[in-house]
Amino acid sequence: MKISEILKEDAVGLSCELFPPKSGSQLDHVKEAVREMAALRPSYMSITYGASGGTSAYTVDIADEMRNVCHIPTLAHLTCVSSTREQVDAVIERLKEANIENILALRGDIPADADFPLPNQYRYACELIEDIKSRGDFCIGGACYPEGHPEAGSISEDLEHLKEKVDADCDFLTTQMFFDNNIYYNFMYRLLKKNITVPVVAGIMPVTNAAQMKRIVSLSGNLLPPRFKAIVERFAEDPAAMRQAGIAYATEQIIDLIANGVSHVHIYTMNKPDVAGEIFRNLSEIYKPA
Ligand code: FAD
Repeated sequence: MKISEILKEDAVGLSCELFPPKSGSQLDHVKEAVREMAALRPSYMSITYGASGGTSAYTVDIADEMRNVCHIPTLAHLTCVSSTREQVDAVIERLKEANIENILALRGDIPADADFPLPNQYRYACELIEDIKSRGDFCIGGACYPEGHPEAGSISEDLEHLKEKVDADCDFLTTQMFFDNNIYYNFMYRLLKKNITVPVVAGIMPVTNAAQMKRIVSLSGNLLPPRFKAIVERFAEDPAAMRQAGIAYATEQIIDLIANGVSHVHIYTMNKPDVAGEIFRNLSEIYKPA
């Protein structure tokens, strides 16, 4: 099923994200996590492309597990920064063969030592979107950054480029994680002023350990509200308490978003079915799987 159809539904939607393993020996383990998360019956599941320490090699295999074994609508991420156009085309063909209808089209982070872009590479995600559209009847998503993309000179410059990306025929957007919902609400207002009207799925990351927090902030420069900082400071040294507080914080963020009219939230569940399970249980009267 296309995600654009799911996002048209009025009912509250929750989706989950996983990342591929570093090596083939961990593939079965990740597939097991897929099956456990699928049992929660999220509206859809997504699999990243080489992000969070995984490799891109297994993205299609895991998407296949989600779509064809677990029968959950599936979103496969696809980055183009470290590949030639021919290599990207080959992945699109494999996704087509596995009947994956949804692709999150991303540029990816430019590797520090890379000569970029080479003549046969895509430079920005909007170029990749145009190409995917020409290769099949895919529903295509793009990434957006409520706090601005780290490379952009300003938020308004970033929004100019986001508008180009949406105009390249992007069907929906998913946000980078944020820890203060007001950032999302302000961002939505800016999108409206820019006449960006595609559905915007809010991305929420349950932070369940302090090391994860440090990594997130160094990578994305997220603004941390004092309420969140207090949790990390108080519980960083107590893993069980930090996990519980992180799940409660993410749950509260999701409830606030839904109470304020957001109908779909994407949870960065990071291959942790236990964390996803607790959040789904916390929301059992709010999210009713179809
Ligand atoms: P783009 O949309 O191409 O934007 C990149 C930068 O270029 C921005 O600063 C933008 O303002 C600027 N820009 C865009 N168009 C132009 C233009 N025409 N002229 C000048 N500047 C321009 N990474 C992974 O490796 N794997 C994943 O699976 C993955 N999944 C993600 C999922 C989500 C929801 C998000 C938010 C991010 C994800 N990332 C992933 C990280 C992402 O790849 C990086 O943030 C990357 O640096 C930007 O990718 P993009 O698709 O947003 O790029």
